[in-house]
Amino acid sequence: MKPPIIIAIDGTSASGKSTNAKLVARSLGYIYVDTGAMYRTLAWHCLKQRIDTHDPKAVTTASRRWKTRLRCDEQNGLRTVHLLVNGYYPEREIRTAETSAAVPHVAAVPQVRQWMVKRQRECAQFGNLVMEGRDIGTNVFPETEFKFYLDAQLEERSRRRAADGIQENLAARDQRDSQRAVAPLMIPLGAMVINNSHLSSEQTSGLILKEIQSRRAR
Ligand code: C5P
Repeated sequence: MKPPIIIAIDGTSASGKSTNAKLVARSLGYIYVDTGAMYRTLAWHCLKQRIDTHDPKAVTTASRRWKTRLRCDEQNGLRTVHLLVNGYYPEREIRTAETSAAVPHVAAVPQVRQWMVKRQRECAQFGNLVMEGRDIGTNVFPETEFKFYLDAQLEERSRRRAADGIQENLAARDQRDSQRAVAPLMIPLGAMVINNSHLSSEQTSGLILKEIQSRRAR
């Protein structure tokens, strides 16, 4: 059996990773994986259990003890992998400002990243994937030929978040993600870099799909 194909989409916060990863997954009939949601789920779990998210030891222990499993769900016609905690996917809870502020601290813990990378690689059991995050092309699936890095001007990214009703200091989160010691946010070697400040999502996903086609033809 052929190994699954992995499309890795990394980039800064609010650079359009989710929208474009979903469009690409739909177009190719691949499974969509949001790895940010997995880190957010652990941050939410810690907050709920009153575990100090600034304490790496406590967060590591939480990641060893929590009861999770991966499930591939059909959501609005798109197959999506979810990480469940005690059988529950906290879809809305992981998008609060409190969780967003806590998640880079949790994501900087090396043992947490080890745990997450293992789960993220396990997603390939479900089939071909479009996986978005911060270290997919550098760390989770570094061997894939299909790597993309999205970015946009900070003003444009903040405007997009505000349009979703979310006020957040994106620059601070990006700085934490780029400066952490383990698997920091960076452009993966061989990635196509797309600055989509002035592009629609149709244009961005169109560029990604065209590049996938041309790389597959090589
Ligand atoms: O993509 P999203 O904004 O939901 O990611 C939330 C946070 O999860 C990021 O700011 C980062 O701290 C962490 N993350 C990560 N590695 C990934 C995906 C997300 O460190 N592959």
